[in-house]
Amino acid sequence: MPEIDLSWRSSGACQGLDPQIFYPDNEENCSQAKSVCSECKVRIACLTYALDSREKQGVWGGTSARERRKLLRTRRTA
Ligand code: SF4
Repeated sequence: MPEIDLSWRSSGACQGLDPQIFYPDNEENCSQAKSVCSECKVRIACLTYALDSREKQGVWGGTSARERRKLLRTRRTA
């Protein structure tokens, strides 16, 4: 299995922030995390990782878990 490159993580705009922001109790409450992600220069790498590794929780690359499930369904049918 190829090694996964996670070097982008250290450049994320979320570095040093409270991780709880990215794991809200309610999926509807992820606007603060999405706002941080919108300014993040490694957003695409983060989203790609989350999709490829099927991250089931939290906000990654500016997307919620529900949004990623939808993206994966779209990807499968494309
Ligand atoms: S896109 Fe969001 S979750 Fe991903 S590294 Fe950037 S700030 Fe963190």
